[in-house]
Amino acid sequence: MKSLEFLIFLGPPGSGKGTQAEILTNKLNFIHLSIGDLLRENIVNNTELGKLASKYVKSGELVPDELIIDLMDSFITELKNESNVSGIILDGFPRTINQATALENKIKQLNVNIKAVLNLDISDQEILNRLAGRGREDDKPELIKNRLKVYRNQTEPLLEFYKERSLLDTIDGDQSESDVSNAIFNILKAEVA
Ligand code: ADP
Repeated sequence: MKSLEFLIFLGPPGSGKGTQAEILTNKLNFIHLSIGDLLRENIVNNTELGKLASKYVKSGELVPDELIIDLMDSFITELKNESNVSGIILDGFPRTINQATALENKIKQLNVNIKAVLNLDISDQEILNRLAGRGREDDKPELIKNRLKVYRNQTEPLLEFYKERSLLDTIDGDQSESDVSNAIFNILKAEVA
């Protein structure tokens, strides 16, 4: 079986994870997996997963780990059998230590590796400015505050988790879109060198 590589994006809502992941997938032969997009698709199509996830997504809470871990597990297993993909960009996963541990186990089992964990660091003020302009249903000011709180409490501990594994690179996410993507390319080049 061909080996797969993973790139993980971390950063609060509005930090540009999805945008940067799209830019990178166009440059590398990678697949972009946005758990948020996948959940919203399931909600629109009213699937079993969509019905279970809906109330969490609408209130800005995290969907329970077991649902997300199952989703990730089947996605990765399926992709592993596709020979023309070099890697996966994970945007919005993991978001809890439990999810990160599950991913680590899956990665060991499949004998693949994490190439880098890219942390887009952004100020709260910039987050509020950006999300105000986006207009998604969960981008209302009170929900943004809750999503930020959830991020700080449940996802931020992952920075330490990946730092301990020497995988973490932090990028100033307040910069322009192209400055952020240049910074990412430089990091990835350095990893390859
Ligand atoms: P953002 O990064 O802007 O919060 P996403 O599209 O990544 O937006 O996520 C939207 C929502 O989907 C989250 O608020 C949460 O309810 C749910 N979600 C996404 N990823 C995960 C995850 N890994 N674990 C649990 N819930 C998730």
